[in-house]
Amino acid sequence: MNLAIPAWEIPTLAITGSKERFPVRRVFCMGLNYLDHKQEMGITGEVPAFMFTKAVNHVVPCEAGAITDIKYPSKTANYQWECELTAVIGKRGANIPAAHANEHIWGYAVGLDMTRRDLQLWAKSRELPWEIGKDVEQSGPVGEITPASQMGHPQSAPLWLKANGEYKQKSDINQMILPTPGIIAFLSGYYTLEPGDIIMTGTPAGIGPVHPGDVIEAGIGDLPVLKVRVVA
Ligand code: MN
Repeated sequence: MNLAIPAWEIPTLAITGSKERFPVRRVFCMGLNYLDHKQEMGITGEVPAFMFTKAVNHVVPCEAGAITDIKYPSKTANYQWECELTAVIGKRGANIPAAHANEHIWGYAVGLDMTRRDLQLWAKSRELPWEIGKDVEQSGPVGEITPASQMGHPQSAPLWLKANGEYKQKSDINQMILPTPGIIAFLSGYYTLEPGDIIMTGTPAGIGPVHPGDVIEAGIGDLPVLKVRVVA
């Protein structure tokens, strides 16, 4: 096959204890999946499960033990962190029952759903799509994946995020409104989940803005810590 323009590389994530890498196909993100985050966003009442996506090229692979630069994006004055358990899919499936969801999860990593909050809120206030707030270049740093074959499928694990050494988010993944198996069931009703798809499962309270020069560290349980530096 002759390509009219050069093909590009897809992002690949590091894997704990392996030289192999995990190719990323699509990025799904769950919205408002922790009660305290919903409250800090000022949202009351029932909100059904919902999702959005980031383009795959926005994934920034982060190696364990390293610090990775992410650029402060254009058109925002309020770029915010959201620490999220990220589940990665290893087996194809549609309409997956929650009871079988774990069979489709290859592993887990720490991810950040970086958000142009001002543009997200601007869009929401006008009932417009959120893309410009969420689908942002370099907005998806993801750490090393630990295979489920090594770690199992955690139902609880402390989740934390530090900005410049100060704790900003402290929760537990057991606080998810829709736990990971339910998320797989939900998403696979709308999409055939494919190997390489990754799912950011939502963030707890404690979101806040970054500035160029800030260092963000994030961890969930025993997963390798994610560390990024925001650069102008
Ligand atoms: Mn999020």
